[in-house]
Amino acid sequence: MLKIAIQKSGRLYEDSVKLLKECGIELNNGNKQLKTVAFNFPLEVYFLRDDDIPQYVYDGVADIGIVGENVLLEKNKDIELLYRLGFGRCRLSIAVPKAMKYDSVNDLKGLKIATTYSGMLQQYLAEKKVDAEIHEISGSVEIAPGIGLADAICDLVSSGSTLFTNGLKEVETILQSEAVLVTNKKLPEEKKTILQKLLLRINAVKTAKNNKYILLNAPNHQLGNIFKLLPGMKSPTVVNLAEEGWSSVQSVVNENDFWDVIEKLKQFEAEGIIVIPIEKMIV
Ligand code: ATP
Ligand code: ZN
Repeated sequence: MLKIAIQKSGRLYEDSVKLLKECGIELNNGNKQLKTVAFNFPLEVYFLRDDDIPQYVYDGVADIGIVGENVLLEKNKDIELLYRLGFGRCRLSIAVPKAMKYDSVNDLKGLKIATTYSGMLQQYLAEKKVDAEIHEISGSVEIAPGIGLADAICDLVSSGSTLFTNGLKEVETILQSEAVLVTNKKLPEEKKTILQKLLLRINAVKTAKNNKYILLNAPNHQLGNIFKLLPGMKSPTVVNLAEEGWSSVQSVVNENDFWDVIEKLKQFEAEGIIVIPIEKMIV
């Protein structure tokens, strides 16, 4: 049995549970429990505060876990980052009052900066050779300058709207973060085998999300051009259409190149292009 720690509630909870579900792992979580065992995969799920996850994984209470990279780096435990999961994106940034004149990181010298991320902030300021006072608080960092507790803050930002409503502007980015899968470094063989199975599934889900299945009709004299554009997983599937001189082509296309590829396909006389999401993809 492999033990995974995920956030009990909060920003990573839903996406973490959804990922397990997409991996075909069914949980019976009435949610308020501390732990649950999957019905159809040797996985036990612990629901914890995100801040505790690195420690629990390090201690081996859990074997693996899902946390923000920001938490992983702040806690600085000797555990391994296995996989970037692509959700929970945010950045750890320094922000100052809107009206403050700010040209460079040197303008932070002598200021009092409120944060819950004192480890990372300290490291950042040391790298930049900026001497500032770090004021560690446990929450509601964004209101600190407004109530005279600090001159600046260092906090997580995604849209920036919280900063805006508190009269702050973002001036430095310390880290671009997303949810990551972490593991204890000394897993026994039996657990490693289960982890490999889980990783295969996670990979299949993530790869599928980055790709689309594409079907189109094209005149035979353009097939060479189209094959170069849509190499597919091995090579595209081609079926003759009933109409002489035409074929149907089926392949996969990466999400990132998608619109580029579509434009070129049109130039190569492709018609009736259909694009379908892929649920799982094993390459
Ligand atoms: P817990 O109760 O588990 O301690 P928390 O309040 O510390 O929860 P959340 O606010 O739920 O944590 O955020 C969890 C993680 O979500 C963060 O560590 C970060 O990696 C990610 N995240 C994504 N966007 C944001 C954001 N705008 N603000 C804060 N965290 C964000
Ligand atoms: Zn937390």
